[in-house]
Amino acid sequence: MIIPFNKPYLTGKETHYIYEAVNSNKLSGNGIFTEKCQSFFEKKYGFYKCLLTTSCTDALEMAAILLDIQPGDEVIIPSYTFVSTANAFVLRGAKIVFIDSRKDHPGLDEDKIEELITERTKVIIPVHYAGTACDMDKIMEIADRHNLFVVEDAAQAIDNFYINKNGDKQALGSIGHLAAFSFHETKNIISGEGGMLVINDPQFGKRAEIIWEKGTNRSAFFKGEIDKYGWVDIGSSFLPSEIIAAFLWAQLENLDDIQTQRKKHWDHYFVGIQNWANSNNIVLPSIPDFSTNNAHLFYLVCENLQQRDQLIDALKKENITVVFHYLSLHKSPYYKNKHDSRELIYSDRYSDCLIRMPLFYELTEQQIEKIISVIVNISL
Ligand SMILES: *Cc1c(COP(=O)(O)O)cnc(C)c1O
Repeated sequence: MIIPFNKPYLTGKETHYIYEAVNSNKLSGNGIFTEKCQSFFEKKYGFYKCLLTTSCTDALEMAAILLDIQPGDEVIIPSYTFVSTANAFVLRGAKIVFIDSRKDHPGLDEDKIEELITERTKVIIPVHYAGTACDMDKIMEIADRHNLFVVEDAAQAIDNFYINKNGDKQALGSIGHLAAFSFHETKNIISGEGGMLVINDPQFGKRAEIIWEKGTNRSAFFKGEIDKYGWVDIGSSFLPSEIIAAFLWAQLENLDDIQTQRKKHWDHYFVGIQNWANSNNIVLPSIPDFSTNNAHLFYLVCENLQQRDQLIDALKKENITVVFHYLSLHKSPYYKNKHDSRELIYSDRYSDCLIRMPLFYELTEQQIEKIISVIVNISL
């Protein structure tokens, strides 16, 4: 039996709520289930306002429109991220200024932000890789000083927290001016495809609803705030149908259980692999003091590409599916000629050396034991 890298987890209530949505005769977006999901997140994590979207990619595209990105504006983005983080801003004509990862973590190196800021810089996009927080106090302080916006790419960061300098826990996605989450089937909480834009700066609240509803003020119309609706701005169809929101609601009801189970798996891996990793110079995920852990990914960082491939092959022979992750975007076929000549050595290192282990709700203790025993018996 093959151990897959991921298996989408169903709580059992998804089809029940979809049935309810279908029978309610309200199938398009912005109905009861959408409202339930959005207020769940707003209450639980202290977000000012949430809008469900059809993907995190869409939420990032909404962010770029909301921030009024113009051709030539510069956006600072880690090279080690998913294409959508950059694409959303490229679509508006922005120039992407790629920043390197931290030595100890794939997230962006906060100490390298300031040297990249120019008169055209408008936005910084921290990506909370593996759900682990970037140092948000540092990033927000730099953004304030240079009058920049911060959009958190929190695609992987649901139910995770930043611990600020006063020791307070702040939900990831609640700190930047805007934030984007993903409910793609590979994330902790899923709806197949799905996402959410979080608006923390109230100045963007009204316009976000308009962009979300095709550039019309239909949301305000349905709330009875105006007596007719029409075309008032640019926008697109960013909202998911009620069927997707109904699915997501079933997941949210089980969020705590899902998180507890994933953290158990993550700890199991960590304890089982730690000694072997130390004696082979393999680096395990490091969670900085300013972050909690939402167990989105469990990964290893090998010493080099050959060793990474050796590990992938050894696990594959035992029917265990492990995968590497992003390839540095500054070296991608699409962007390499547009990138300046700066080397981003840590981004390249994670591209070459990082492996992700299977991590999903229904993974069993026995399967994890097996994966650990295969790993610790590999001689590198
Ligand atoms: C998954 C992911 C995305 C894209 O999410 P979709 O919902 O598939 O559009 C964007 N950024 C990061 C960091 C991701 O992990």
